[in-house]
Amino acid sequence: MQSALNQALDQARQAGAVRVHEIRLRIGVLSGVVPEALQFAFEALSDGTPAEGGRLTIEHVPARFWCATCNREFEAIRLFTECPECHNPSGELRSGRELELASLEVD
Ligand SMILES: [Zn+2]
Repeated sequence: MQSALNQALDQARQAGAVRVHEIRLRIGVLSGVVPEALQFAFEALSDGTPAEGGRLTIEHVPARFWCATCNREFEAIRLFTECPECHNPSGELRSGRELELASLEVD
């Protein structure tokens, strides 16, 4: 997860940012990332950078699975789950493991 933060800080640097007001990250509920830990890492990593004093905002991405039997997508909060329609196990994970930069607000 530090790499996502570093990536954000790199981008800010490349953009010649004097000040980073906000970093928005998209975090999938299945990514295994603990938001509090991310917040903590952000404070440590942003120390002495243009992002110091900036805000880290986390967008939670729900887990979505595709059921090939029903031809539909369904949401779940666990990796091992079943289709609410046909009750077949899991299906194909379509989203929920994201850990990526959504946007950057800089000066
Ligand atoms: Zn199904």
